[in-house]
Amino acid sequence: LTILSIESSCDDTACALVQSDGTVFAEQIYSQKEHVEFGGVVPEIAARAHLSHLSTLVKKILSQAQLDWSEIDAIAATCGPGLIGGVIVGSSFAKGLALAQNLPFIGINHIEAHALTVRIPNISSVQVQFPYLLFLTSGGHCQCIHVTNIGEYQRLGGTIDDAAGEAFDKVAKMLGLSWPGGPALEALAKEGDENAFSLPRPLYGRPGCDFSFSGLKTAVANLLTGYENTDTLPRQLAADIAASFQKAITTAIINRLENAIKMVPDTTLLATAGGVAANQYLRKRLLALAEQYKLPFIAPPMKYCTDNAVMIGWAAIEILHQASNTNKLIDDISLLPRPRWPLSEMSERFKH
Ligand code: ATP
Ligand code: FE
Repeated sequence: LTILSIESSCDDTACALVQSDGTVFAEQIYSQKEHVEFGGVVPEIAARAHLSHLSTLVKKILSQAQLDWSEIDAIAATCGPGLIGGVIVGSSFAKGLALAQNLPFIGINHIEAHALTVRIPNISSVQVQFPYLLFLTSGGHCQCIHVTNIGEYQRLGGTIDDAAGEAFDKVAKMLGLSWPGGPALEALAKEGDENAFSLPRPLYGRPGCDFSFSGLKTAVANLLTGYENTDTLPRQLAADIAASFQKAITTAIINRLENAIKMVPDTTLLATAGGVAANQYLRKRLLALAEQYKLPFIAPPMKYCTDNAVMIGWAAIEILHQASNTNKLIDDISLLPRPRWPLSEMSERFKH
């Protein structure tokens, strides 16, 4: 199977041509710079930017891969969850291609695609089998999922306030770092002392696997009283706060995930995905946690942690395989874009 896939749920316009064995024939991604001056993603601007870049990027992958339309088996696109304007642009574009080329259209849940990324062949040394525990952590999502099969996702817990990426971005902003703040904060933290400040680790020691980060964010804001103008903030102080924050948020996350591991004793490995999973400090602590419980730990390469179209194409391949196993023909052309789309609904497409 060869899939042409499109991702447009946030501020990355991406497309790819992916094959069942994991081969990526071509991929293109445009990370929208239109939002930098606003210090965050502006939904209306994002939708317009997807519209102006998508067709050029799709033409590029087709010429790069030198594939004929007859060699493409389906068109896939993110149908949610995400910023609805962008999702409408990408999914409508993909449906148009599918109709014009008489190919099936597969509507993909963006979170499901993040969850299945670790199963792309050759992406890691281990071929990931079910069931596995996934810590999904990005700017908009923070949840722990037990992935038991294609379409079957048991949500063990999630954030009760901010997502971890949101907390990284907000603290980075308080420290005067440019958007997106996560990578900048990680770089600054390398110059700091992680034990300089003792910050709260929300929900630490409590049962369950929910997350909370807003109290931690407020504690950082309190440390910065008097430095509302970040130009007056000494660099060493900023670095010490960055390092202490990174340690506190990671320690809180690890504690919650330890509970999650205990909730699913049959799990075969610990995996992570989402933009925050690019953080090296977090990855090291996740690896140590997995080792403590004798589980392999898998994190996709950085470029497949953040939003990309390869994961959308791969999710379509998994869904088509599952559908052929169950003798269901999948064509979601009537599927409408959705701002919210809970993973608990993902088994439905295999039922009717
Ligand atoms: P969605 O939540 O829908 O997946 P998103 O735009 O948040 O959308 P991602 O690209 O997966 O999607 O994640 C971006 C987030 O990851 C931002 O909050 C960013 O600050 C954070 N991030 C990226 N790199 C790092 C890093 N090295 N350390 C910490 N956070 C990071
Ligand atoms: Fe994402």
